[in-house]
Amino acid sequence: MHGLRFRGMPVRSWRKRKHPRIIRAMISCDVLILGASASGLLCAAEAAKRGRRVIVIDHAKQAGMKILMSGGGRCNFTNLEVSAEHYLSDNPHFCKSALSRFTQWDFIARVSARGIEWEERRHGQLFCRDSAEQILDLLLEDCEQQGVEIRLNTAIAEASDIRHGPQGFDIASSRGRFRSRSLVVASGGLSFPRVCASPIGYRIAEAFGHAIVPTRPGLVPLTLQPEDKRRLAPLSGIAVDSRVENERAGFHENLLFTHRGLSGPAILQISSWWRPGEAIDIDLLPELDLLPWLLEQRERQPATRLRNLLHGLLPKRLLETRIDERDLNRPLQEQGRASLQRIAQQLQHWNLRPGGSEGYRTAEVTVGGVDTRELSSRTLESRRQPGLYFIGEVVDVTGWLGGYNFQWAWSSGWAAGQAC
Ligand SMILES: Cc1cc2nc3c(=O)[nH]c(=O)nc-3n(C[C@H](O)[C@H](O)[C@H](O)COP(=O)(O)OP(=O)(O)OC[C@H]3O[C@@H](n4cnc5c(N)ncnc54)[C@H](O)[C@@H]3O)c2cc1C
Repeated sequence: MHGLRFRGMPVRSWRKRKHPRIIRAMISCDVLILGASASGLLCAAEAAKRGRRVIVIDHAKQAGMKILMSGGGRCNFTNLEVSAEHYLSDNPHFCKSALSRFTQWDFIARVSARGIEWEERRHGQLFCRDSAEQILDLLLEDCEQQGVEIRLNTAIAEASDIRHGPQGFDIASSRGRFRSRSLVVASGGLSFPRVCASPIGYRIAEAFGHAIVPTRPGLVPLTLQPEDKRRLAPLSGIAVDSRVENERAGFHENLLFTHRGLSGPAILQISSWWRPGEAIDIDLLPELDLLPWLLEQRERQPATRLRNLLHGLLPKRLLETRIDERDLNRPLQEQGRASLQRIAQQLQHWNLRPGGSEGYRTAEVTVGGVDTRELSSRTLESRRQPGLYFIGEVVDVTGWLGGYNFQWAWSSGWAAGQAC
């Protein structure tokens, strides 16, 4: 990494450069990519490998901001178990082509070839051992080697800033005009507006006649109704193994109670499938078939109080919010079958109606996006406007938690990079 230079500057300081040269003249290139992050940078290097003159523009002052903040600073860059089942889309088969052409193994090979050390965590999730910065450096080095030009602090404000004519795309940015044969929209979704998210990709798609699958925050903590919030406030900070489901999906993961509501992987996962007003079903003892177990324990240790029996299984504060105090203090021999059944129901089928979600402010992803039915699954090119491509999160393909969203960014970026 040391000594690497980009446009005469070390990569690290170049990324943080605040005031790049202001360019006013019309600049021509083969491919203009809007968005210098995961999908855009990978696509840029691929297109440039094919001899294209590629320019990437981004309104942020630093490339790849979401990469840097991902995975708690270690970037969960892919998953060993990538398959179409790990993605939500109105068109569930769409992602298969790109995912199979540039797979998790292809990206792992690149990471390993750079000497980036990684580790496998639960559910096949791969993280950098050291820092997410290594993934961004990998992408920037590839771009540099292939002669890609990256212009930061350069915004597209409106879809009407982009026109298509006989000579290709004419793009008016905050720092001058560009003309390109191909335009790749890699501008991401709406989540984390404070790191430069914008709706520009959707607006461009609409301007070229594309439908947008309605967007909503995904992989996001859920908030509680006022009464539940008051009742569950003492649980803040508690994490438990759980299974959380609705009629569309279910996840066996940790659930975390916070001062704002519910979080942890189980909640983040189900949030992508949850609609406002719906209830979720929480099983606080997913490894146990509780009613038969309670009946068995009643035979074995009739004098034991329910509180003592369950104490080893769930935190005391959680038990006290779910089960009536009289039931907790009663010996098992005094609990009829109906009472034990009710208790099992309270712990294994907790029907909770969240008040809402924390919204795009803290969502990791945006569910929905550019409707895939009018994109080529092989190249991500628009069927409405030749030369126009949509890649990464702006497309209606949303991964589960666990590195799937970056893999979609790599795979879709690679696929467009072979064609644009
Ligand atoms: C906190 C957090 C942690 C995450 N952790 C993980 C993880 O560990 N693993 C995982 O797989 N996924 C993770 N994700 C999701 C992942 O970061 C995204 O899915 C991925 O970055 C999408 O890549 P992209 O290139 O499509 O878009 P983005 O990375 O969002 O990049 C879009 C780029 O377009 C630029 N842009 C937007 N509008 C304009 C405009 N008008 N003009 C010019 N430029 C513009 C933006 O500045 C940005 O650089 C995380 C997300 C967040 C928010």
